[in-house]
Amino acid sequence: MDYDFSNGEKTFIEEIRTLIADLAKTRTLESGDPVQAESAIRSALDRLAPTGYLRAGFDPDAPGQVALMAAMEAVAGVSPSLLLAMESSTRVFGRAVNTWGDDGVRSQWLVPLTQGRLLGAVALSELAMNVENDPLATEGHAEGSDLVISGHKQYVVNAPVADWIAVVGRIADAPAIFLVEKGTPGLSIDPPMETLGYDGAMIGALRLEGCRIPSDQALLPGIDARAMLDQLRMWENQVLIAASLGMMGASFEAARDYAKGHKSGGRPIIAYQEVGFKLSEMLTLLQTSQLYAYRTAWTTEKKPKEAASLTRCAKVFCSESAERVAGQALQILAGSGFRSGHAAERAYRGAKYNQIAGTSTEIARVNIGDEALGYV
Ligand SMILES: Cc1cc2nc3c(=O)[nH]c(=O)nc-3n(C[C@H](O)[C@H](O)[C@H](O)COP(=O)(O)OP(=O)(O)OC[C@H]3O[C@@H](n4cnc5c(N)ncnc54)[C@H](O)[C@@H]3O)c2cc1C
Repeated sequence: MDYDFSNGEKTFIEEIRTLIADLAKTRTLESGDPVQAESAIRSALDRLAPTGYLRAGFDPDAPGQVALMAAMEAVAGVSPSLLLAMESSTRVFGRAVNTWGDDGVRSQWLVPLTQGRLLGAVALSELAMNVENDPLATEGHAEGSDLVISGHKQYVVNAPVADWIAVVGRIADAPAIFLVEKGTPGLSIDPPMETLGYDGAMIGALRLEGCRIPSDQALLPGIDARAMLDQLRMWENQVLIAASLGMMGASFEAARDYAKGHKSGGRPIIAYQEVGFKLSEMLTLLQTSQLYAYRTAWTTEKKPKEAASLTRCAKVFCSESAERVAGQALQILAGSGFRSGHAAERAYRGAKYNQIAGTSTEIARVNIGDEALGYV
């Protein structure tokens, strides 16, 4: 195992951190206003395009998986919403197109995506269900040279602002991913919903009613639904791991700086052992999570067969640690952290999503247990 950063990777990660921090000085990246949110995402994609960030994982000359994980962590440290929006597009939509599309598909969707000109969304989960339990109900059938799709998706990151949506469903019994462009007749998208966290991510439900697309806009993975689902979930989980790291880093730094500067009883509060112990635990969880996440990213590249299981374990650990670290940070920051808009307050709300989305913590634990017992 070797996942230390080279000098080139360190430069790349710092470049991304600085670029996003500079962007945050010019506009709010966590606004719940759809116009501002879309403008922030597109502006970030535009700035990131020349850096290689958007090509990571697709282009052998771009930075590798470990550097990408650290760069995503840096983005999330500034804005978890921006990370979720960008990566639902680049790393989930993009990998689906790259993995299950042919050269024509890649040139139509992946090229503009990696140039920052296309914003995608992936619509997987359906109404009141987790697709781990039930078969996908979204269905497409052929009519001449077209496919006609019907279905309903409950929560989709980027749906209200995306140019293209990868809608996961089936044709007869075979899994399929339908690439549906914004404005296609039969596709209706709800306005963004209000959620507990990730204020700047635009999340909406969508409905397809007799939605007609050319049949070459369907990806046919040629694997069973379970394998396709596992793959999509792994890509989502990697993003949520990075989001958890960024949340922990921002929470820890805010609490540490506050504890050094804020006085109570005539002393900086870091002088109180109870505060120092909290910071020790937070740093331990952050550093352990980083090691786990980087190892997971390294494994994805070097030992892909081990990646799925490790990613699930890392996602459980990192997302639960993020809630703990953000909670401890709020305890130290007290009144100042409890105010809306503080990084730790935002992390505390967002960390819960990291445990629900992707493979939920409960399902991940069931899967990890099955693997440990040799059932899979
Ligand atoms: C803000 C937000 C954004 C989202 N964005 C997207 C998106 O962009 N694309 C997308 O496709 N989906 C998205 N989702 C959906 C998300 O992936 C699902 O919410 C998630 O998979 C859980 O499904 P559910 O909400 O239907 O919960 P349920 O499946 O109803 O689960 C409820 C509870 O039961 C537990 N549970 C369910 N089944 C089992 C089981 N077999 N074993 C043990 N425990 C179980 C769950 O872990 C959970 O605790 C988003 C969700 C939210 C909240």
